[in-house]
Amino acid sequence: MTAKAYIELNPQETEETLELKKTLLDILACPICKSHPLELHIFEEKEEIVSGLLVCTSCNRYYPVIDEIPHMLPDELRNHDEDLGFLKVWESKVPKKILDEGKPFNFRK
Ligand SMILES: [Zn+2]
Repeated sequence: MTAKAYIELNPQETEETLELKKTLLDILACPICKSHPLELHIFEEKEEIVSGLLVCTSCNRYYPVIDEIPHMLPDELRNHDEDLGFLKVWESKVPKKILDEGKPFNFRK
């Protein structure tokens, strides 16, 4: 069995994916408050994390992971409709705290 096949059959617990998560979290810090490490929520996973959410627990900001790319933009460069659209798609997996209080955009009016 190849490593790839093994990952596809066991998406949760392989050393390869654990290593990727660790590397991602080692590199990334919140661009706003510089807090580190960020909390990672995985929504969809293949060999890499396809979709997910990085959460800064210090300032309550969230950063989408879309098509394996973490989007780490400062507030002024973010798109309200895109961010809320992303949260809507994964609403059942997004922490409630982020839906209600996440920055820069959330569902509470
Ligand atoms: Zn932060």
